[in-house]
Amino acid sequence: MSSAISTDLLDRFAAIVGDKYALRSEADLAPHLIENRGLYHGSSPLLLKPGSVEEVSGIMKLASETGTAIVPQTGNTGLVGGQTPRAGQSDIILSLERMNRVRDVDPVANVLVADGGAILADVQKAAEAHGRLFPLSLGSEGSCRIGGNLSTNAGGTAVLAYGNMRQLCLGLEVVLPTGEIWDGLRRLKKDNTGYDLRDLFIGAEGTLGIITGAVLKLYPQPLGHQVAFAGLHSVEDALALFNLAASFCGTSLTGFELMPRFGVEITTRHIDGVRDPLEAAYPWYVLVDISTSDSAETAERMMNGVLEQGFEAGLVQDAAIAASVAQQKAIWHMRESMSDAQKPEGGSIKHDVSVPVSKIPHFMAEAEKAVMAAMPGARICAFGHMGDGNIHYNISQPVGADKTAFIARWREMNHIVHGLVLAHGGSISAEHGIGQLKRDELAAIRPAIEIELMRRIKRAFDPANIMNPGKVVSLDV
Ligand SMILES: Cc1cc2nc3c(=O)[nH]c(=O)nc-3n(C[C@H](O)[C@H](O)[C@H](O)COP(=O)(O)OP(=O)(O)OC[C@H]3O[C@@H](n4cnc5c(N)ncnc54)[C@H](O)[C@@H]3O)c2cc1C
Repeated sequence: MSSAISTDLLDRFAAIVGDKYALRSEADLAPHLIENRGLYHGSSPLLLKPGSVEEVSGIMKLASETGTAIVPQTGNTGLVGGQTPRAGQSDIILSLERMNRVRDVDPVANVLVADGGAILADVQKAAEAHGRLFPLSLGSEGSCRIGGNLSTNAGGTAVLAYGNMRQLCLGLEVVLPTGEIWDGLRRLKKDNTGYDLRDLFIGAEGTLGIITGAVLKLYPQPLGHQVAFAGLHSVEDALALFNLAASFCGTSLTGFELMPRFGVEITTRHIDGVRDPLEAAYPWYVLVDISTSDSAETAERMMNGVLEQGFEAGLVQDAAIAASVAQQKAIWHMRESMSDAQKPEGGSIKHDVSVPVSKIPHFMAEAEKAVMAAMPGARICAFGHMGDGNIHYNISQPVGADKTAFIARWREMNHIVHGLVLAHGGSISAEHGIGQLKRDELAAIRPAIEIELMRRIKRAFDPANIMNPGKVVSLDV
């Protein structure tokens, strides 16, 4: 792939969307060349903001004729560098921020149709206005967009009850690398008609096509909602409490999040408005979230039942039930700020892993031992969606350590943590995807036939390798 594009070709791309929506200045491009964690810094001569599916198609046709690489970017909140153009190349960024409408809401069929550039929080609000719930909820929901959520198969805080983005999508509209448009905006729950093309695009991180529209599933708005914060002695106790809550509440258990004492300390220290709801300190905490569709009383009865049984079994040491919506939000805010609160503590090496839920205590004990042996003084902030087996196994630098030297050990720490994850039959990317960050590691750990099948799919959809090249799976072999 050439690293320079002629001005003439850039002008032809710009003409498709109009000069106003074709950004070329350094200042305009700068925010789109870096991602949230500052791990990647890419280069690009042009950012295009098409206003219609036809314009997206026109861009892809020209790209495929001229062998020009295109990188889809929506909210730019991805955490694995998938949306960042490659460094030293001339990838053109295609942003769907102008294609941000909710096209239709059908509360009877429980579906919502949105543009690929619709902001997640706007989709949630549109569903709410019709008395419905769109359950995907993430810390980045004010800026991430549906195309990015689908392309990363985003998970978030309600996967336990509603599934991840793959389970929340019925149909897609996609512009292919050739510029052809696939209208798969079907609203069917049952549709067994051959290969499931929709599932190929979900989680493909923009390597197979550009998602311009989606049919999403809606649910009833819960009538009852309870959130509690409980202090525990151990991860084993957290697992036992999860088992108890899941049995007692069934699908009404909508969240079960694990947090360590260190995470609570740094969120209360660095994040405005966060305070520890419990008087004493405990080594571990869980956030229990219960939603019921019949009545508020049912949710209250369930939460009281879970905590009472947890106290009786010696699992819960102390607990606070949120008494208002504001208090519920405050507890969730603490959990969702845990990653941000690590920033003022210096460097942080991240892992987004999953293991079978029953293996979490073993994995956590072994990982702590191995990490502390390799890096004495490291401060482990392992938190996350325990009910989904998904732990964000983050490691903060030892106090006073040199940040650059600490970050230089990123791969070494990944090797330790991921080795244990794989030994427990887990995944090295539970919800953030592969992007640039984990591409080579994925190729190294998955069976050769699996990677070869991914390459064949990539070649079938994108023979010219222009669709977000170099992400997820490399064709340069
Ligand atoms: C504070 C914070 C909290 C987060 N919490 C969670 C969480 O709880 N759970 C979770 O799963 N993730 C979480 N994430 C990461 C998450 O993946 C993203 O926030 C979100 O899903 C990505 O959407 P986006 O619009 O920002 O996509 P971008 O970052 O713009 O893109 C992400 C990927 O999708 C591709 N892409 C984007 N749009 C399209 C499109 N229209 N068609 C094809 N490909 C496209 C890009 O090329 C890239 O590979 C979090 C991120 C942040 C910053």
